[in-house]
Amino acid sequence: MTAVEVVLVYQSLLGIYGDRGNATVLTKRLQWRGYDARLTVVEAGDSLPDSGQVYLLGGGEDAAQVSAVKALRTDGGLARAVDRGAVVFAVCAGYQIIGNSFTVGEHDEVIEGLGLLDVSTTRGPARAVGEIVSRWIGRDGEDALLTGFENHGGYTSLGPGAKPLARVEVGVGNAADGTEGAVAGTVIGTYPHGPVLARNPALADHVLQLALGTELAPLPRPEIEELRRQRLVAAFRRSS
Ligand code: GLN
Repeated sequence: MTAVEVVLVYQSLLGIYGDRGNATVLTKRLQWRGYDARLTVVEAGDSLPDSGQVYLLGGGEDAAQVSAVKALRTDGGLARAVDRGAVVFAVCAGYQIIGNSFTVGEHDEVIEGLGLLDVSTTRGPARAVGEIVSRWIGRDGEDALLTGFENHGGYTSLGPGAKPLARVEVGVGNAADGTEGAVAGTVIGTYPHGPVLARNPALADHVLQLALGTELAPLPRPEIEELRRQRLVAAFRRSS
């Protein structure tokens, strides 16, 4: 049985809105396919393992986000993971942290990010709160609609080293240019919670395929598809 290690980074600092569920989704989808999936939960102050294939970061409050970026810079393990081709999948605060910089507080203090994704975040004119639906760039069909819940004050702009993950249909996302999330190689950042990989199994399998370097057979789960359908209908109805 092939062993695959999923690393959940700083659950206590970067774990709001149930983003830990992304780790559950990935390990379950691996186990359903016969992989020996292992979840390693790492807290700030402990070293990140150099053995993971996927590293997950979630959302967090501003103060926790600043603590997390400092600890991750000291650790250095995330940069090493990217260098050896591991996948980093980061949501909201995690997305901002892996970028070049983000701002916090009333005085918009600029905090240096880890520089693993060519994006920068500054406080937007209004907090983005609510359902978000976006269309995954380069995908066709029902799987291309990504659904989730967003709650962030930061707006993100992409530099030339990153490509947008999706185009916003409902909600705010990166904000300025109507895009959502960013991708560079095996590094993916995105705003939606949900958890986003529970709401979007195709995105979960995309993360796994990147990590394993192999195509995975589809895993039909009608109950997940039905839940997706309901969420999408509700999000479009609310926005019309
Ligand atoms: N503190 C960040 C912001 O408001 C991220 C929030 C979050 O992770 N939900 O932009």
